[in-house]
Amino acid sequence: MSFSSLGLSEPLLKAVAEQQYTEPYPIQQEAIPTILKGHDVLGIAKTGSGKTAGFVLPILELFQRRKTTNDRNVKVLVLVPTRELAVQVAEVFQTLSANLPRKVKTLAVYGGVSINPQMMALLGAEIVVATPGRLLDLVSSNALHLWEVAILVLDEADKMLDLGFAGEMNEIFEMLPKNRQNILFSATLGDAIQGIRENLLRNPIKIEI
Ligand code: AMP
Repeated sequence: MSFSSLGLSEPLLKAVAEQQYTEPYPIQQEAIPTILKGHDVLGIAKTGSGKTAGFVLPILELFQRRKTTNDRNVKVLVLVPTRELAVQVAEVFQTLSANLPRKVKTLAVYGGVSINPQMMALLGAEIVVATPGRLLDLVSSNALHLWEVAILVLDEADKMLDLGFAGEMNEIFEMLPKNRQNILFSATLGDAIQGIRENLLRNPIKIEI
């Protein structure tokens, strides 16, 4: 199995080669074509499985295929439990999008640091990787709005729930357009994740590695 058989275009294949990813990991072999088809996804995968590139690559591909608009509002929202993961996931978006003809700005926003620089930096960011509390603060400050989010990703959803973010997550879900693609990754599949699955995902394809 090669990356070129998964439906990704040349600039992304080039980025993958530059990262010296020679072969897609199993989670990527399943997640990339599924996400490209527009399905909701429930992925059960741990850190180290390659799950990040598994959702970043097809999201960037879908992003390129979109009819270009001049507005630069948030189109892709990735919710993560921690600052470290926010930075890490945003870096993967940035690295893998380097060769794309349609430039895309990705920003990580998280709590524990001053909000003002993040408010400024959000201008023109179409992909936002955020911890839930800080995202809500930024929305309240009108630093961004979520009306145009077409793809929602919950990464390490079980950890977000363990850290007590359920209330914030629900508040965020309420603000999103109804018509969107949802991708949920979790290391475990407990009752709380099943609850989110039922509320949030529409006919999801389950991917378990
Ligand atoms: P993740 O599980 O997303 O945190 O990824 C774990 C590590 O695997 C990261 O350091 C990635 O850069 C690396 N990685 C992801 N996909 C591949 C691949 N197909 N081939 C080699 N390394 C990869």
